[in-house]
Amino acid sequence: MHTKTLLELAQGLRSGDFSSVELTRSFLNRIKQYQNLNAYITVTEEAALQNAEAADARLANGTAEMLTGIPIAQKDIFCTLGVKTTCGSKMLDNFTAPYNATVVEKLNQAGAVMLGKLNMDEFAMGSSNETSYYGAVKNPWNINTVPGGSSGGSAAAVAARLAVCATGTDTGGSIRQPAALCGITGLKPTYGRVSRYGMIAYASSLDQGGPMNRSAEDAAILLQAMAGFDEKDSTSVDLPVPNYRAGLNNSLAGLKIGLPKEFFGEGLNGGMAATLETAINEFSKLGAEIKEISMPALKLAIPAYYVIAPAECSANLSRFDGVRYGYRCENPVDLTDLYTRSRGEGFGKEVKRRILIGTYALSAGYYDAYYIKAQKIRRLISDDFKNALSEVDVLMGPVTPTTAFGIGEKIDNPIEMYLSDIYTIAINLAGVPALSVPAGFVAGMPVGLQIIGNYFAEDKLLNIAHQYQQVTDWHLHTPKGFE
Ligand code: GLN
Repeated sequence: MHTKTLLELAQGLRSGDFSSVELTRSFLNRIKQYQNLNAYITVTEEAALQNAEAADARLANGTAEMLTGIPIAQKDIFCTLGVKTTCGSKMLDNFTAPYNATVVEKLNQAGAVMLGKLNMDEFAMGSSNETSYYGAVKNPWNINTVPGGSSGGSAAAVAARLAVCATGTDTGGSIRQPAALCGITGLKPTYGRVSRYGMIAYASSLDQGGPMNRSAEDAAILLQAMAGFDEKDSTSVDLPVPNYRAGLNNSLAGLKIGLPKEFFGEGLNGGMAATLETAINEFSKLGAEIKEISMPALKLAIPAYYVIAPAECSANLSRFDGVRYGYRCENPVDLTDLYTRSRGEGFGKEVKRRILIGTYALSAGYYDAYYIKAQKIRRLISDDFKNALSEVDVLMGPVTPTTAFGIGEKIDNPIEMYLSDIYTIAINLAGVPALSVPAGFVAGMPVGLQIIGNYFAEDKLLNIAHQYQQVTDWHLHTPKGFE
């Protein structure tokens, strides 16, 4: 059962080939069998089986939706009522959420069966899932390599078939980069498309939740259930949600694809470049027109992001003070001791580094030189996207400069780690949607192709990825040992 796509499973549940309880049990067994990947932080076995029973009842009485009875998993950044919600941090190791994130609520309402909470980089800060308090996640394609981050648990779980699909969040690449490194399909929607309510904040002007699936068709189904206006999130956008599956079969004839030359320069591994070229050729065969373009501000994305994201995180993470919830140090002698030791002991190294950078960039005297400058660069980057996307329909490029790197290889060199986000970060600064689609392998490791669209063009991105998946089978490969 675990080899089937979401759509096939939904059909199987309807035709009575298996029940949701059977399906859920088979995934729970796989989670136990492949614990070595460290993809899950919490497994909610009992609740999952109860919800699967409820889903079977809905399937029997005709009130089932597409996701009813489908075993999914949530990134541990989404608050789940009554279930431990850690955000990958010691700070929240003792935290049980008192409410559901809107995304969780929506998927529960749709009847999806949550198997558990997925491992992630601490507070979503990282590109390798090595900053998690719960330890590194392993890439199922080679367990000595990273799955990417910060949604590394989500990507590894979907690739190894430890969940049919998963949620992720993407502040600077955290859906697309792990999707690429684990050979799955991951979509970061337009900022505002998916509610951030109950999604623990990292950098609020960049964070966006999205679907992580095997195929674009499955991503269309999951996004359908996640997207939409939410009055509890003031940045959520009140626009109708299109029927994503309805547009999947549109022809790509005449589609204008732009290739930003800044995406294909030095720094992109040779094998990756050749693989992407082959992938892009497929689109010519499907009738698309390819054009090289230039986006000169892209090269400024990393420095701008690594000022803006830490600045926002330093403000967001000030709420973890040992007073209201989360970790509290033992026997504080006074209030200052309570604050400093709770934060000093509760946060990991990378989170502290970001808080320090952010606090510095926001402090009087440096605010104009760093924060305001970074905001100006952000505008230049948005303008680059605006101009490019008025000339072409979508942009294509790499997701990552290399395939998955070794566990431990970059963790002590933050600059090198930050550089692995070079192709994903600008998209968040502009707020446009982008997806990563499996496009081949280099030395046995998956390669992702990034497709970037205009605001709210998720339907177009899914259509393009789906058409590509009709003529290629990269998204159907399963890592050895997980068949
Ligand atoms: N790797 C980037 C960072 O560490 C992006 C993380 C994310 O998208 N959550 O900030």
